Amino acid sequence: MGRLWSINRFLFFVTIIFLLFLFSCKEEKTKTNEKTPEKKITEVNKRVPVFNKDSAYEYVEKQVAFGPRVPGSKAHADCAVYFKDKFTSFGLQVIEQNAPAVTYDKKKYTIKNIIASYAPEKKERVMLCAHWDSRPIADRDTKDKDKPIDGANDGASGAGVLMEIARQLKIASPSVGVDIILFDIEDYGQPNNSGFPEMEDSWCIGSQYWSKNPHTPGYTARFGILLDMVGASDATFCLEGGSEYYAPLIQRKVWQTADDLGFSDFFVNVKSGPITDDHTYINELIKIPTIDIIHMDTNTGDFGSFHHRHSDNMTTIDKNTLYAVGQTVLQVLYTE
Ligand SMILES: [Zn+2]
Repeated sequence: MGRLWSINRFLFFVTIIFLLFLFSCKEEKTKTNEKTPEKKITEVNKRVPVFNKDSAYEYVEKQVAFGPRVPGSKAHADCAVYFKDKFTSFGLQVIEQNAPAVTYDKKKYTIKNIIASYAPEKKERVMLCAHWDSRPIADRDTKDKDKPIDGANDGASGAGVLMEIARQLKIASPSVGVDIILFDIEDYGQPNNSGFPEMEDSWCIGSQYWSKNPHTPGYTARFGILLDMVGASDATFCLEGGSEYYAPLIQRKVWQTADDLGFSDFFVNVKSGPITDDHTYINELIKIPTIDIIHMDTNTGDFGSFHHRHSDNMTTIDKNTLYAVGQTVLQVLYTE
């Protein structure tokens, strides 16, 4: 009995020690599991600034207040000065790239691409872009078809979101260099029945020029994000075919980020066909993988009821949409 008892006691102690060991391991593991993500999330959140939707809205409003930014107009010239002043005040290096252009209607203009660079000395860069000109005609409207549109969404919204991102660059530094490019003469494309001979590549004239003549020779970036019509109420952005073809990983990353942030109502998981936009020429000519975040109505498969109509004014703009897009882009930028 005595011997048996002592073996039992030995086994008892061994069991206790073993259990204590297990417990301490488990506790250690739990601690590690708890700590790592917390630390990671905090670090990321600390680095990602909060997009100010009121500020972005104000930038959209200000552009629209100049009047339609049609190439050659006073509103266009004044708005270019406004962009340059604002970007300079945000501490960015600003270049206005000028070049001659002829549109489908045989008119001659000077392209004004506005390029604002954060940390131009950094080799690793991300390019963010939008067009800033407004369409000189309202060819999809029922009246005043020959008059220019306000382009609150088609033009000013993308530029406004990028201005707010530019303002944030002064407040918190991302690890990568950033180039914000506002392309000119995107929306001067040839309408149906224009009466002029068909012109190839009549859209995206500013981005075509830049893609062939970047502001710095040999310019490249890890990737690009184009914003086009990113301010309408209840906007939906589809997985655009050209972006999926040229930059599938970036597209997935942006949509996943939007989903993580709770913006999946905007960034829907619906595919759309390829759209000719500034990113088309960037992908094809300068070969920087670039996606397009562009308004696409999932019910109609069209750009929305405001598109190339006079209803594309400030009443179209919703701060929540500007916020969803701006915060998603900031999150992607600051986790690069
Ligand atoms: Zn347009």
